[in-house]
Amino acid sequence: MSDTLMISVSGVRGLVGTDLTPELVARWAAAFGVWGKGNGGRGKRKTRIVLGRDARTSGPMFAAAAAAGLLSVGCDVIDVGLVATPTVQLAVEHHRAAGGIILTASHNPIEWNALKFVGPDGIFLDTVAGARVRELAAAASLPRANYHAIGGVEADAEAIARHLAAVLALRAVDVKGIRRRRFRVALDTVRGAGGAVMPELLERLGCRVTAINVETDGLFPRPPEPVPENLKALGALVHRKQADIGIAVDPDVDRLAIVDEQGRPIGEDYTLAFAIRAVLGKRATGHGKRVVVCNLSTSLVVEDAAKEFGATVVRAPVGEAHVARKMIELKAIIGGEGNGGVMYPALHVGRDAPVALALVLSLLARERATVSALVARAPRYAIVKAKVERGTRNVERMDGVYASLRAEFPEANADTQDGLRLAWPDRWLHVRPSGTEPIIRLIAEAPSGADAERLIEEGRRLCAAS
Ligand code: MG
Repeated sequence: MSDTLMISVSGVRGLVGTDLTPELVARWAAAFGVWGKGNGGRGKRKTRIVLGRDARTSGPMFAAAAAAGLLSVGCDVIDVGLVATPTVQLAVEHHRAAGGIILTASHNPIEWNALKFVGPDGIFLDTVAGARVRELAAAASLPRANYHAIGGVEADAEAIARHLAAVLALRAVDVKGIRRRRFRVALDTVRGAGGAVMPELLERLGCRVTAINVETDGLFPRPPEPVPENLKALGALVHRKQADIGIAVDPDVDRLAIVDEQGRPIGEDYTLAFAIRAVLGKRATGHGKRVVVCNLSTSLVVEDAAKEFGATVVRAPVGEAHVARKMIELKAIIGGEGNGGVMYPALHVGRDAPVALALVLSLLARERATVSALVARAPRYAIVKAKVERGTRNVERMDGVYASLRAEFPEANADTQDGLRLAWPDRWLHVRPSGTEPIIRLIAEAPSGADAERLIEEGRRLCAAS
């Protein structure tokens, strides 16, 4: 296999036309189908697998290949077509399917595509299940169905409509309040799958929408990750149209970023912070401890938002599946990732941009404040990221780095779930080896850029010395 093919727990990603080929996709889909069949066949019924894709030009080709692979091992395919990633996850639950395959390379550039595997719970596969699928994909032969046991394909054209209806039915979403405000919203869906769901959601929320890049042809006109440097056109649109808010999503619509009313991207961490405020601030519901889960690299703006309402913040290793499983374990009220991925279990424990949008607008409607005023209400922080060569340093050598960091900062709170994260009340430093490159990643957050830089420099120095 060529070296640009990346195999991870929840899927396989590669460059279209070089290493990610229809043959390979069919094989992995067949392997996943075999795993699905062994994973709770439901009565006499054939094992059913939901199949969806984002807007990439390679999507139809790979969808056909994935369907062929699934049929060849005797699975039935429920084809939901061109949809958001969370729409597939919801469809797996809706149909009580044995799993789902999503063809998307998320925010990666146009030349990439990937298969992502969802288990029967609608969550991306964990390590054990992922390893089993990988083993099956590498096996000399797979148990193919004979002529009378081949599966069938059924199209499900209602998956997006169900998703939208479910979002609008959430108690935390104030549809009436949002509609009353008649928000002016500027939207950029980067010609990804967002065009199939976000304009309609905004319309049903009574917003006055002005949009760019809502075609769903997968021809991304800019780098598709919704980070500030990629949202200049959206910022200009907000300015020109005097919009109340600008909204951008990534190509598979599980991440959402916000631009304020002056056209400035406010950073993806605020999406989860706003969603938390929307949910926890609605009313003092329930009793006992309210838990919010985010990952180890998520900004303190998220922690501040949760603490403002007396919630406890628990951090999980980076990765949607880690956060999702921790949320289920702790019965978290809301959670997600600082990259704009909001997970709201009242609907589904997966990152969902339509949910994020509905919650953010609910907050704006309730607070009657501008986006920039909401940002200004809480402390701001600076995040600095760096990397150093790991060289031949193995896991034990990393232990040396961690030990010297802990000795240098004995007063800090240490979290060792994934590398080492040292935390103080208003700052943190996270040091971890990359899983894909021979480097050590350093990330720090503090009240000022200079403070964050100082933490990074300390980390760098100890990495070099250990
Ligand atoms: Mg994504």
